[in-house]
Amino acid sequence: MQTILSIKNLNKRYGSLQALRNVSFEIKRGNVYGILGPNGSGKSTTLGIVLNVVNKTSGEYSWFDGKMQTHEALQKVGAIIERPNFYPYMTAEQNLKLVCKIKNIKYTKIQEKLELVGLDERKNSKFSTFSLGMKQRLAIASALLNDPEILILDEPTNGLDPQGIHQIRDIIKQIAAQGTTILLASHLLDEVEKVCTHALVLRKGTVLYSGTVDGMSANEGFFELQADDNEKLTQLLKIHPAVESVKQEEGKVFVYLKTALEAASLNKYLFENNINLSHLVKRKHSLEEQFLELTKNSES
Ligand code: ADP
Ligand code: MG
Repeated sequence: MQTILSIKNLNKRYGSLQALRNVSFEIKRGNVYGILGPNGSGKSTTLGIVLNVVNKTSGEYSWFDGKMQTHEALQKVGAIIERPNFYPYMTAEQNLKLVCKIKNIKYTKIQEKLELVGLDERKNSKFSTFSLGMKQRLAIASALLNDPEILILDEPTNGLDPQGIHQIRDIIKQIAAQGTTILLASHLLDEVEKVCTHALVLRKGTVLYSGTVDGMSANEGFFELQADDNEKLTQLLKIHPAVESVKQEEGKVFVYLKTALEAASLNKYLFENNINLSHLVKRKHSLEEQFLELTKNSES
């Protein structure tokens, strides 16, 4: 699978603020990537650097296996990183014609892309009459005019109503289904879950997770336990090889696992060490709980 973009140990400082810390990831052709993280986690900074509008402090990135200079590579990239901006008194079609002229693209592409984003019937309406969702869809059409290898979107559904959000997500999925690689930044877990195949989770400029979206929820889970002697229970759990960490809360003992462990074998282990459980439940965090846990602001 061809590498579209490769980022290694990217760092970015704005004065004393470290916005990105050793960010590394790879984008392979045909996948849909989400950079997921709360506001201020460094998503837009990452996109800005690879699009050459923000200077990196250190680290490397290369487009298309490093075979091309950045300015040349960027001609194969479609990106929307700001609020869509077109001439308000020109129609959708006239605006796209202008983009074609500037980028030296055939006008025949316009109809195809307007249909893709569902604006064919409104092509003769002035941009100023468009809803925010329609403006965003026109921006997507515009970014796709030259059939880019990869489409980059920063918070593509911000500010839209539920219907507008749904339309944009459907369009992104259609574009992906046609084989275009996609990289989008979002602070919405459900957006990344619904639209993306791969995710990079950022918090304060640090990568917390990088991998498939399915893999984000594939954790071993945890136990909720109770016994007469929760102290002794805790001590026994801490020395169990499958246990990652133990915490007590509201009279219950929570046991987080690093490797798989069945309830029956945990119960047997505790029983053999003279602990009789009065409560045992095995649970898994939902993806949302995990995301909140992952991105919870740390003390530092
Ligand atoms: P996100 O897109 O995830 O919301 P950003 O990449 O915009 O995050 O910002 C990351 C951090 O860098 C934030 O703390 C933000 O305040 C800071 N930052 C972003 N742009 C600038 C800038 N031009 N000057 C100073 N600080 C900035
Ligand atoms: Mg941003």
